Amino acid sequence: MATVQLRAVSKSYGGTVRAVESVDLAIADGEFVVLVGPSGCGKSTTLRMIAGLEELSGGTISIGDRAVNDVPPKDRDIAMVFQNYALYPHLTVRQNLAFGLQQRRAYKSRWKSLWNGTYRAQRRGEAASLRDRVESAAVTLGIETLLERQPRELSGGQRQRVAVGRALVRNPAVFLFDEPLSNLDASLRGQMRTELRILHRTLNATMVYVTHDQEEAMSLADRIVVMRSGVVQQIGSPAEIYDRPINRFVASFIGTPPMNMIDGELIRDGRGALSFRCSHFALPLSPARWDADAIGPLASPAYTLAVTLPVKLGIRPDRLKLVAGGSVVEGRSEHHLSGQVVAIERIGSLADVVVRLPSERLVTARCGMDQLTSIREGDSCGLQLDASAAHLFTSDGNAISQSKR
Ligand code: ADP
Repeated sequence: MATVQLRAVSKSYGGTVRAVESVDLAIADGEFVVLVGPSGCGKSTTLRMIAGLEELSGGTISIGDRAVNDVPPKDRDIAMVFQNYALYPHLTVRQNLAFGLQQRRAYKSRWKSLWNGTYRAQRRGEAASLRDRVESAAVTLGIETLLERQPRELSGGQRQRVAVGRALVRNPAVFLFDEPLSNLDASLRGQMRTELRILHRTLNATMVYVTHDQEEAMSLADRIVVMRSGVVQQIGSPAEIYDRPINRFVASFIGTPPMNMIDGELIRDGRGALSFRCSHFALPLSPARWDADAIGPLASPAYTLAVTLPVKLGIRPDRLKLVAGGSVVEGRSEHHLSGQVVAIERIGSLADVVVRLPSERLVTARCGMDQLTSIREGDSCGLQLDASAAHLFTSDGNAISQSKR
C-alpha cells in the first residue's frame, strides 16, 4: 500500500480548457478518498492523471516516495476499475480475473527464467499462485460460482464485481475507481457501496474513488474532496463537509434534499444582540458561535452602533421542525417561519415537506411520519428553526466560519 501526493497538479486541454487547476492533495496510506463534484468538474481527469492515463500540464504526483510524472501506467503499481467494466467478452470470469496479472508477469520475468533454465518450474509456481489469487478474490467478492461463465452470462452487478476482482488480483499499491457503480440500479448500487466499504476495511488499501453522487461519496469516504470547475472547494471528512461547508456551493451540493437558503441580513443592534432577519422572520444568534474575524465589527461587544451584513441563512431540512398551522402567529414571529405546504414527498418512514414562504421561496423540512398526521398539502404551517444548526453565507458565497466548539 502507499500514499499518494498531488502538488499543484493542473491540466489544460489545447491551452484553453482548464480541466484541473492547481490541486494539492495528500492521501494517506490506507485511506479511502472520494473526489466528488458535478459533471465536468475535473474529477476523472484528476484520477486519470494519478493513473498515468493523462499527462500533467503542471505540478507533480507521487505514489509512495516516488514521483511518477514520467512513469508509464503499467509501472505505477495501481489498478483501475472503470464504469463500463472493460471485461474481455470472449474470456471466462476466471480468465478475465487472471488476465492483467498474467500479462504483467509474462512481460516482467518470463524472458529471465527462459534465459537461466528455470522456465518450467517458474511457470508451474506462477500458475499455482495465480490460481490461488484468482480464487481468493472470487471468494472475497462472492463470485466463486461464476468463474467459468462469460461476461454476457452475468448481471450488471456481477460484472462489476469481476471488474473489482481483476483489480484485487493485482494487489496494487493504490486502487483507482472511476464511477464504478453508475451503471447499476439503485438498490444494487447501495449494496455494492456497502461491499466496497467492507472490502476497504478488509484490505486496508489506499483507494481513490470518483463519483458525481454525493450520497455515494458520503457513505464511502474517509475523506471527501469536493471539486467545482477544476478547483478543489473543500477537503474533509464526511462529517466536516456536512457540518461545516466552506461555501454555498458545498453546502448545497452535499446533502439531500439540499440545504435551504433564505436571503436576509445579519444584524447587530445597539445593545449587542446578534440576529438574522428577513422580511418575515427573525432568528437570534449567539455572537460567540461565529468566528470573530469572519463577522468583523458585528462580533465586537464594544460595538454600539447597529450594523448589518447581507447574508444567506442556510438550514438543513432535518433541522427545520414542522409545526401544525394553528399554533403559529401569521407573519413575523420569533424563531418561526410560516408558510403554506405545497408538496409532501414520502420516503419510507420519513417525508420531505415543501413549504412556500411569504417571500415565495420554497423550503423543505424533513419530518417523521408522526409529524404528518395533522398536515396536508395546501395547509398553512409553521417551521421552527434550530438556531444552533444555522449556517451563514456572505454575498460572495463564502461561509461565515463557526468558532470551534
Ligand atoms: P468530470 O469527471 O468531473 O465529469 P472531466 O475530468 O472528465 O470531468 O472533465 C473536466 C473538463 O475537461 C470538462 O470540461 C471536459 O469537457 C474537459 N475535457 C476532458 N477531457 C478532455 C479532452 N480530451 N479534450 C478537451 N477537453 C476535455
